[in-house]
Amino acid sequence: MPMFIDNSPPGECIFCKLVKGEIPSAKVYEDELSIAFMDIGQASLGHVLVASKRHAVDLLELTPEEAAAVMQTAQRVAAAAAKAFAPDGINLFQANGAPAGQTVFHFHLHVLPRFAGDGLSV
Ligand code: C5P
Repeated sequence: MPMFIDNSPPGECIFCKLVKGEIPSAKVYEDELSIAFMDIGQASLGHVLVASKRHAVDLLELTPEEAAAVMQTAQRVAAAAAKAFAPDGINLFQANGAPAGQTVFHFHLHVLPRFAGDGLSV
C-alpha cells in the first residue's frame, strides 16, 4: 500500500514544488533538465530520486533530451552512492501509472543502493 498518492495538477504537484524550492528537499544534484534528491522514504541507505524539472507525468511524456538528462544524472548519482556507501549492488527503477506502482505523477527514477541481505523486493 503506497504512503500517499499525489495526483495534483501540473505545476502544483509535490515534485514541482520541490523543483521550485517551495518545499524543502535534500538535493544532491541538478542541471538544466533534471534534479536529484534524497527519497524521503529511504528504502535503503542512499535512496535517491532523479526527476525531470519540467512536469512530465511519466516516461512517455519526457522529451528525448529529458530522458537523456535523467539517465545521465542517474549514472552520476549511482557513482556517488557507490563511493559513499559501498553498496553490494544498485537498482534503477521507475513506475509508469498507478497499476505499475507510481504514486507521485511527476516523472522520477529511483536510484536504490542494495546491500546483501537487505530483504528488499523491487
Ligand atoms: O515510484 P513512486 O511514484 O511510488 O515513488 C514515489 C516516491 O516519492 C516514494 O519513494 C516516496 O518516498 C517519495 N517522496 C519523496 N518526497 C516527498 C514525497 C514522496 O521523496 N515529499
